[in-house]
Amino acid sequence: MSTYRAAQIAALGSPFEIVEREVPRPGPGHVRIAVEACGVCHSDAAFVGALLPGVRFPLVAGHEAAGRIEELGEGAAQRGWQVGDRVAVGWFGGSCGHCPPCRQGDFVVCQNLKVPGWAYDGGYAEQMIAPADALARIPEALSSVEAAPMGCAGVTTYNGLRRSPARPGDLVAVLGLGGLGHLGVQFANAMGFETVAIARGGAKAELAERLGAHHYIDSTAGTPVADALQSLGGARVVLATAANSDAITATVEGLRPRGEVVVIGADATPLGIAPNQLLFSARVIRGHPSGTAQDVQDTLAFSVLKGIRPMVETVPLAQTGEAYDRMMAGAARFRMVVTTG
Ligand SMILES: [Zn+2]
Ligand SMILES: [Zn+2]
Repeated sequence: MSTYRAAQIAALGSPFEIVEREVPRPGPGHVRIAVEACGVCHSDAAFVGALLPGVRFPLVAGHEAAGRIEELGEGAAQRGWQVGDRVAVGWFGGSCGHCPPCRQGDFVVCQNLKVPGWAYDGGYAEQMIAPADALARIPEALSSVEAAPMGCAGVTTYNGLRRSPARPGDLVAVLGLGGLGHLGVQFANAMGFETVAIARGGAKAELAERLGAHHYIDSTAGTPVADALQSLGGARVVLATAANSDAITATVEGLRPRGEVVVIGADATPLGIAPNQLLFSARVIRGHPSGTAQDVQDTLAFSVLKGIRPMVETVPLAQTGEAYDRMMAGAARFRMVVTTG
C-alpha cells in the first residue's frame, strides 16, 4: 500500500499536522496529481476557520496547486489529459454543470463551485484528486513554484483587469501590494495601462516601480488617496486587492466618470459609500471572482509572454502551518508557497 503526506487540520481550531494517508484512486472524470507546489492564499482562512458553509474536518486546504498528473480516472484521457502532464489547480476547482449559471456557460459563478480545500482535499499534500475541468496546463517555461500562485492570485488579478473596461493607456490603480497586488501591478503594466500602485508607507515605492508602476501613492502620506488619483486624471479602474473595506472606500472618489472599482480583496466589513458618490459620475463598484481553468491557462501563457513571475517564499510541506501564519500576519514577501520536493 503506498501512502502520501498531507498537512491536515484535524478539527476546527487544531493546528496543521502532517499525516500519512493511503493514495486514493481518481474517480470518473478525475485525475490524481503529484503536487509539487501550492501557494498560500488569504482565502484559506475562510476554510481553516470554517467561516463558510460545508467546510468539513479533517481539512486539507490549498487552492493554488501545481504538479504532474500521475493517474487518470475513467474518461480523463478523452478530455485531453495524459499521465505526466504538468497542471495547475486553482480557486476554480470545477463546476457542477447543472446550476443556472453553469447552464448559461458562466462557470466561475457556479452556485456549487468546487473550490479545492472546501469541496475536496486541496494542495497542501503530496497528492490530490481533481476533476478534469479544473486543470490548467503549465507551460514549460514556468516551474511549479512559479505557476502555483497563478491559480488564484494570478488569475484573479489578470482576469479582473482584462475583463474590466480599462483600455491601453488608461489610468489603472492597483490597491495593495501583497500576494495579489504585486502581480496586479505587473499585469497592469504589461497590458499597457498607465499603472498606479497604492500601498501603505513609503517603503514600497521602489518595489512598485520595479514591478512596473508609473506612479506610487502612499496612502498614509496625508493626501487623500482619491485626491492623489484625481491629480493624475482619475482612474478608469481601481483593482482593489487589499482586503480592507476602508481602503477600498477611500478610492471611490478617485475614479473618473464611469470608472470602476473592481473588488477582489475579501473583507466582510461593509463599504462606506453613499449612493450619490456613484450616481452623478456613473461610477461602478463590482466584484470579480477569479477565473476558470482556461482563464488560469491564459494567465500562465500571458505571464510567459510578458516575463511576469510571482515573488515567493518557499517552505517545505512540514512547515505549512508556519507559512499560513506568516501569510495571515501579512509578513509574506509576497506569496508563501509550500513545496513537496
Ligand atoms: Zn485564493
Ligand atoms: Zn454550477
